[in-house]
Amino acid sequence: MVSEHASPLAAIGGVDAGGQNVHVAALSSALGRQGHEVTVYTRRDDPSLPARVPLAPGVEVVHLDAGPAERVPKDALLPFLPALADGLVADWERVRPDIVHGHFWMSGVAALDAARRVAPLRPLPVVQTFHALGVVKRRHQGAADSSPAEREHLEPEVGRTADGVLATCTDEALELVALGVPGDSITVVPCGVDTGRFLPAGPAEPKGQPHRILSVGRLVQRKGVDLVVTAMARLADLGRTDVELVVVGGSGGVSDLRDDPEVRRLEDLARQLGVADRVHIRGQVAQAELPRVLRSADAVVCAPWYEPFGIVPLEAAACGVPAVVSAVGGLTDSVVHGETGLHVPPRNPDAIAAALATLLDDEPLRRRLGAAGRARMESRYSWDRVAADTAEAYRRTIRRATQGVGAGTTEGALR
Ligand code: UDP
Repeated sequence: MVSEHASPLAAIGGVDAGGQNVHVAALSSALGRQGHEVTVYTRRDDPSLPARVPLAPGVEVVHLDAGPAERVPKDALLPFLPALADGLVADWERVRPDIVHGHFWMSGVAALDAARRVAPLRPLPVVQTFHALGVVKRRHQGAADSSPAEREHLEPEVGRTADGVLATCTDEALELVALGVPGDSITVVPCGVDTGRFLPAGPAEPKGQPHRILSVGRLVQRKGVDLVVTAMARLADLGRTDVELVVVGGSGGVSDLRDDPEVRRLEDLARQLGVADRVHIRGQVAQAELPRVLRSADAVVCAPWYEPFGIVPLEAAACGVPAVVSAVGGLTDSVVHGETGLHVPPRNPDAIAAALATLLDDEPLRRRLGAAGRARMESRYSWDRVAADTAEAYRRTIRRATQGVGAGTTEGALR
């Protein structure tokens, strides 16, 4: 695995983890449990980090020197990719992997460069998961998108040259085809959820009101937490003042909540709308603590403008909590409208409030959606299932890369 900016170690120990950290940590660990040997390469962002750190049985994290050994925003990492590729080449010349899996477009650039350099005679197949696509980000964020300009041509090139591409949802697969990625190289494998940690049974934090709505995620504008705060005011207009909103998450790199401009913006909005006494901004919560918080909620709301995948509704469903989600990106696959949660149009606080009112008024409905969500997570989204599907995609990619497309007859021999 190559995960240039998102170390899986952040997902295990700290609170500063986004979806990619969690994904790489959990996928690698599940592959390790299934008997594979996994090495995760990430950029050294702290001089005190050891070169190699065991993560889980069969899984090791390797810190490569590429740029300053300090936190660097991911949009400033492009110049350091050649150094990252040098580190990959040095390690792969020592122990050659069977397959390389790049996470995020920049890891793909480094991985493809390094794979070409170590494999002049025998191909070293590269599979790519994008986690997010620049073309989608640009569509929604316009000039506010701080990605380097090179992303526009490098990202589709990674998709077109990788031996296989793993899309995490149907919507992403369609975007990839539109970018010119060959359809037969794309496999949809969703992100997973830790169904052993995120369970309906277990302790739950006490609520401060009869009902609690929860928002979990990085406090960046596109996650739409302000829309949920506005929906609280709309709920009050509908006569529902027995509800509190707990907001979990931070904007990264800001340790004191009071210094976080996004926190201040949300607090100001809550004050203006007269709901400040029922909106609680909690800051980041470690993964291990999240189930206790999730179980305290009547519903989780994810109201992003767009969402490449969105792990939080899976975590909610695994805890038996229904989610109200904007019908965008991966959320349309992971939440089944009327079965495990409710879809609402994006950027529409009235629709969020109406969906929440439906759930808050109907406890049997909440329980039915929660139970169906849990069942769906167990059958389709456990990391063991996701890792098995990923390993199958690896095998298919190895066959394609080493024997050409359509060499199905040797399938059994390679298993
Ligand atoms: N997360 C967490 N603590 C927080 C905020 C988020 O553990 O305070 C986790 C959350 O549980 C989920 C991940 O970070 O596993 C966020 O993933 P998602 O795909 O929802 O969003 P991303 O940050 O990747 O855009």
